[in-house]
Amino acid sequence: MDKTYNEDKIEVVCCFCGKPLSYHDAMVINVQSNIKSEEVQQLFCHKEHFIEKLDKSVPLYIDN
Ligand SMILES: [Zn+2]
Repeated sequence: MDKTYNEDKIEVVCCFCGKPLSYHDAMVINVQSNIKSEEVQQLFCHKEHFIEKLDKSVPLYIDN
């Protein structure tokens, strides 16, 4: 592996607050415009911002 390439230093932008965060710490949201859409856009965010925006009635089955 190329030692000049350090994945830990890659930053992405939270789609809710617009602030940068580490690629490894970011929650990943895969978005399709509808169920038949073949295009997927990947968004990143702080996990706490995702949970904050999500209605409390929506169950989350992902690992914390
Ligand atoms: Zn955020």
